[in-house]
Amino acid sequence: MKADLHNHSYYSDGVLSPSELVELSNKASCDLFSLTDHDTTEGIIEAQLEADKLGITLINGVEISAFWHNMAIHIVGLGVDIDNDILQNGLEHNRKLRKVRAEKIALGLWRSGIKDALEKAQEISGGSMLTRTHFAQMLIKEGYCKDMKSVFRRYMTGKKPGGVRVEWKAFDEVINWIHSAGGKALIAHPFRYRMTHTKIKKMLYDFKEASGDGLEVVNANSSEEEISLGNQWSENYNLLASCGSDFHGWPNQRIQIGNLSDLPNTSRAVWSYL
Ligand code: AMP
Ligand code: MN
Ligand code: MN
Ligand code: MN
Repeated sequence: MKADLHNHSYYSDGVLSPSELVELSNKASCDLFSLTDHDTTEGIIEAQLEADKLGITLINGVEISAFWHNMAIHIVGLGVDIDNDILQNGLEHNRKLRKVRAEKIALGLWRSGIKDALEKAQEISGGSMLTRTHFAQMLIKEGYCKDMKSVFRRYMTGKKPGGVRVEWKAFDEVINWIHSAGGKALIAHPFRYRMTHTKIKKMLYDFKEASGDGLEVVNANSSEEEISLGNQWSENYNLLASCGSDFHGWPNQRIQIGNLSDLPNTSRAVWSYL
């Protein structure tokens, strides 16, 4: 089974259209593909049309920003009914928070001498949702930084000019949005949160207690050690395992759709439970 269950289109901070993503997953011989844009399911209708054309199984997905102990984390929802009101109201709430944050980011950048940040970031996003990534891309384009890593560090986090704290909903509530829509809730990219392993394990324990379903064991950037640890934790905490590249289609990135290591234990694979 070849699956890639974490991908972004230009409906959030990816570069490609939903159809282009499905085509790429077809070229990579994926059996299962999921579009998981940040806080929106808007691209799924187009992705489904393309998947039907090519005979690929599309799993409805979304990546939702949430809080665990006041830390922003990402929860991937898979197999969701996109017509569910509880889910859609939740996503709309998050998009409103994003809109307010974008204005605050622009204000912070303006204070540090960077003018018209909102308009310029909007030009890059092409009118879809504004994410921090769009501001980051704009700052690179304008020559303030050379790559994503440095622009996030110097401008988009903490007390930096474009660093804005957002009060996302606690993950219990986000799990409820996903469950109400019949989906499975998984902690995305557990190693990307600047947490010690002890803290990640505490988060996974709490996630299971809050009736969360799983975690991403394999990402495009996962090391062998991370995959082995993630797999062990999925067994220890009785959580399902998922795999997804977190493909955004940005230039100068090696990440490709469907190019992932195998899950070590497929009996826990999330696709058997969707
Ligand atoms: P947002 O959801 O608007 O807070 O933006 C978060 C997105 O920014 C993530 O999904 C990544 O795509 C991207 N991102 C966050 N931190 C970094 C980083 N250090 N380097 C590159 N991209 C990042
Ligand atoms: Mn992203
Ligand atoms: Mn994420
Ligand atoms: Mn993602």
